[in-house]
Amino acid sequence: MLVVMQHDATAKDVDRVVTIIQDMGYEARPMPGAQRTTVGLVGNDGRVDSSRLEALPGVAQIIHVTQPYKQVSREWRSENTVVDLGHGVTVGGDSVVVIGGPCSVESEEQIVSAARIVKAAGGTALRGGAFKPRSSPYSFQGLGKKGLELLARAGKATGLPVVTEAMDAEGAQMVAELADCIQIGARNMQNYSLLKTVGKMKKPVLLKRGMAATITDLLLSAEYILAEGNQNVILCERGVRSFDPAARNMLDLTAIPIVHRLSHLPIIADPSHGTGLRDKVIPMARAAVAAGADGVMIEVHPEPDRALSDGAQSLFPDQFTQLVGELRAVAAAIGRSVPVAKAGTA
Ligand code: PEP
Ligand code: MN
Repeated sequence: MLVVMQHDATAKDVDRVVTIIQDMGYEARPMPGAQRTTVGLVGNDGRVDSSRLEALPGVAQIIHVTQPYKQVSREWRSENTVVDLGHGVTVGGDSVVVIGGPCSVESEEQIVSAARIVKAAGGTALRGGAFKPRSSPYSFQGLGKKGLELLARAGKATGLPVVTEAMDAEGAQMVAELADCIQIGARNMQNYSLLKTVGKMKKPVLLKRGMAATITDLLLSAEYILAEGNQNVILCERGVRSFDPAARNMLDLTAIPIVHRLSHLPIIADPSHGTGLRDKVIPMARAAVAAGADGVMIEVHPEPDRALSDGAQSLFPDQFTQLVGELRAVAAAIGRSVPVAKAGTA
């Protein structure tokens, strides 16, 4: 439930609404906006007597949020959320971020070289998995903490903010200490205890859509993170399982405008996992930006043929460089731009 204050409501009026909500046993979240303040009532169990709030001085209106997710919805917040990754990079609003890097961190040489490729091409952030959720237990599982340290070093050297996956609470703690954004992968989108753990942190979270998750499922998973107090959530469309084996997954670009309508959270696309095939990644990345994505996440490897994971979908450095130029042009055509990260140390 949302309590919308009048334009001329005073701080005292807002405080009174907050106090009454708390007296009723719920949590109050005041949200000052450009036009007026709204106060969210968190945890409505259907027993809230809204007439008690409606009659208070300075209250304009009570809105009952109709969606199953609340704080994630556009009803709750009409302005776009802009997530700050640090290093001068924000996600949402007018910017279109390009997150590039290998599927996995494999060695210092590989990740530093990949980071330099991403930076030189004009990419915005660096990706690379240290904890890898692999379909087979016999596949390369990632370098773990060592991988995180190498990734952090590569980020520092290039000035690129770093995004990397956490698979459990312990990993999330490590990622929060060494990276700029915690990725929750498709396989963990409905790992509710992990969502609550990252919800209690302040770090931005990149939440990927599960491979058989509906858009409502994705938004409800995001709600778990916001409900714990972390508003810095970026959603990611990464393709869903389909009947057609022609591509690894079916990249659902319709999700981009649908999510923008339903939620204030930014959404990016991952055409690498979304298609699984290098030559399909490039057109689908362009299409994602044209569809209004707030960014793309692309796998690029200094030597894709030697990659320990996802080589077939990893771009060659030249392809990545060309693609970033094209994405800039597509973004400009729709009044947006690809932000540039601050300079690094090397
Ligand atoms: C990844 O981005 O490294 C990854 C494993 O992707 P997903 O969770 O979408 O499969
Ligand atoms: Mn991968």
